Amino acid sequence: MAVPKKKTSKSRRDQRRSHHYVTTGQAESCSNCGETKQRHHVCFSCGYYRGRRVIAHNPAA
Ligand SMILES: [Zn+2]
Repeated sequence: MAVPKKKTSKSRRDQRRSHHYVTTGQAESCSNCGETKQRHHVCFSCGYYRGRRVIAHNPAA
């Protein structure tokens, strides 16, 4: 089995992990209700996607 010759230092390890973050992605406003929603996702407020209702209407919105 291949075994690392040297211990990975805390600095090296943490530098490698510096890219392991997640981003929220692109946000835009819904064309139907104006609520902020994620791009290419159904609007959670009104349930519309591309001008069409695709999930049941939320009476609270
Ligand atoms: Zn909406």
